[in-house]
Amino acid sequence: MSNIPLDDLIEAAAGCRVLHAEGHADMTLGHLSFRDPHGRGVWMKRSGIGLGEVAGPEDFVLLSFEGERLAGEGRIHKEWPIHTELLRARLDVNAAGHSHPFYATLFSSMDLELEAVTNEAAYLGPRVARFEETRGLIDTQALGASLALALGDASTLLLRNHGVLFVGATIPEAVLMGVFLERACRSQIELLSTKQAYKATPKSELFAKKEQILDPNLIENFWSFYKRKADGGRSAAAA
Ligand SMILES: [Zn+2]
Repeated sequence: MSNIPLDDLIEAAAGCRVLHAEGHADMTLGHLSFRDPHGRGVWMKRSGIGLGEVAGPEDFVLLSFEGERLAGEGRIHKEWPIHTELLRARLDVNAAGHSHPFYATLFSSMDLELEAVTNEAAYLGPRVARFEETRGLIDTQALGASLALALGDASTLLLRNHGVLFVGATIPEAVLMGVFLERACRSQIELLSTKQAYKATPKSELFAKKEQILDPNLIENFWSFYKRKADGGRSAAAA
């Protein structure tokens, strides 16, 4: 196959390792994908290895929007329709992840709104979507389409008793949304456990705060930081 987007594949592999390092590890579960720049479909992490074991381009498969393998070796995660349907529905989104981070999955079971008690929660924007049509795998195109509908224009979603979905215009943006969501859920759960009164960032300020953080320079700084951290503190220049 020609036209392999090597730079994007290297970034997506780094994104998987960042997710592993930031609380998204769950055995060999969890996946990250991005839109093929040539319009052929979706490049998705292969099944059978953990997020932290994703080394490079060889750990991705290219799927058409109908789920046919077009390139790449290895098994395909059963939840591939999450990625194909989401990227079909949201033309502003070019990267998406699904995983089972501990705190966010606990939070998905609670009948509570995620409040912006920390910066991370504010960066997620005014709305974290919810999905409860099933607690099972999103393994059909109909369920994938339903999940995309539930996400609407949000960047993150909690799947009740299952895990999370996070998306972005770029691979770094999607991964950072996943990282922020887990940190935000952890913050609120730990804060609630103190049983102390607290205040959150007012809703009226959330949109502006998200815009502040989605500054491309800051995203790039955070992305470089998390990649260095995930790969053992090596400098970005040396990596
Ligand atoms: Zn899942």
